[in-house]
Amino acid sequence: MSIQIYNTLTKRKEEFKPIEPGKVRMYVCGPTVYNLIHIGNARPMIVFDTVRRYMEHKGLEVNYVSNFTDVDDKIIKKANEEGVESIVISKRYIAECKKDMAAMNVKPATTHPQATQEIDGMLEMVQTLIDKGHAYVAEDGTVYYRTRSFKEYGKLSHKNLDDLQGGNRSLLVSGEDQKEDPLDFVLWKPKKEGEPYWDSPWCQGRPGWHIECSVMSKRYLGDEIDIHAGGEDLIFPHHENEIAQSEAANGKTFARYWMHNAFLNIDNKKMSKSAGNFFTVRDISEKYDLQVLRFFMLSAHYRSPLNFSAELMEAAKNGLDRIVTCVENLKYLEGKAQASVLTDAEQALLQEAKGFVDKFDEAMDDDFNTADAISVIFELVKFANSNANEQSSKAFLQGLKEEVLLLSDICGLVVEKQEEALDDEIQKLVEERTAAKKAKNFARADEIRDELLAKGIVLKDTREGVKIERI
Ligand code: AMP
Ligand code: ZN
Repeated sequence: MSIQIYNTLTKRKEEFKPIEPGKVRMYVCGPTVYNLIHIGNARPMIVFDTVRRYMEHKGLEVNYVSNFTDVDDKIIKKANEEGVESIVISKRYIAECKKDMAAMNVKPATTHPQATQEIDGMLEMVQTLIDKGHAYVAEDGTVYYRTRSFKEYGKLSHKNLDDLQGGNRSLLVSGEDQKEDPLDFVLWKPKKEGEPYWDSPWCQGRPGWHIECSVMSKRYLGDEIDIHAGGEDLIFPHHENEIAQSEAANGKTFARYWMHNAFLNIDNKKMSKSAGNFFTVRDISEKYDLQVLRFFMLSAHYRSPLNFSAELMEAAKNGLDRIVTCVENLKYLEGKAQASVLTDAEQALLQEAKGFVDKFDEAMDDDFNTADAISVIFELVKFANSNANEQSSKAFLQGLKEEVLLLSDICGLVVEKQEEALDDEIQKLVEERTAAKKAKNFARADEIRDELLAKGIVLKDTREGVKIERI
């Protein structure tokens, strides 16, 4: 079966057909970097990373672009509070965000563009919009998008322009009274004291938020892309405005499939700093391995609201442990197995195990139903637990283990204990160090320890032997 994707644009599931066969152009709106990311921000990261992994499993080549918004009021505010330049803040939190992504096993994007590095492209697109009559320059140099000039405005959020007009009258806030129409939005705005700014034909200033994604998407993926994604709060106005900008400037359909994850709440309430129900990913990492957070996020369908609570995290931990224990057990048995060749009965069982992969794919083909896909992993775990034993052949145990690892890996779940997943080169170095120590060649032993440290591996000598940790 082919992949079906729920498209916010058409409000139905559609068969996924990439523009270029075998290749996927995908853009995911990334975080504004003024603080450590919170667990709400982690949801789109994990969900769309899983979409990417599944597509790659299906043999598609995914060009995955996700931006960092590094010029924004919140960044400027924080920079002023700390008495540093905005770039100090954004650089710091991009680095922290990348650490959190790695710990959640979110693959780095093919490209992670940053708004401040793409100003030229923004100036170009804004000029094109002015030239085509879709934007105008106000007296103070602000450039506004002329929303009514884009006839299809509202098609993504299924809003009607006249309803918006009625509801948005109050949006004409101070400083924006040069707008022709309250619906118009900012493409470029004049600098204010203490803010970063760039030269432009209209005024020294900085871009509005929406223009960056239109520009970065065009630069790294082209005028037309397959998938544009983000949290559901971005449907309006952010994505609606991106469509208006890109389609008016490029004269082409911007994105074919629009995917949006539902929100993550805490204890059934909206996450809010002031109410105290707010967690950063870093907070969670103090209590749990972030694989647990990843497992928790995938235990619900991405379009369903998800509630975060201590009980649900414990349940996620137990669920993940079941898979980890299964893999551990298969490896333990593998180490003890006498027979190496598959029996006929085992062959038949492995064939049966392959059926779980098909069932998993079926769940994922249905708009990435990770909740059902994880249930299939549990079925496979149960199957493995009840069929693997001390009489099993090595090949059989390996076959079962590979199936469990394959499905877990598509979900981005690391279920193999780190120290045992060392590659050969590292394993050899560890053994050489043990031998060097035995031979009292401490200089060589220390040298190897430093060499491993440079690779992010820390060796700890304990009473039970050498323990290996990754940093
Ligand atoms: P922001 O930094 O606010 O632009 O958010 C970055 C991404 O996180 C966007 O795709 C948001 O839609 C998403 N996001 C923010 N809060 C939540 C939440 N509570 N649940 C799910 N996604 C969220
Ligand atoms: Zn965006």
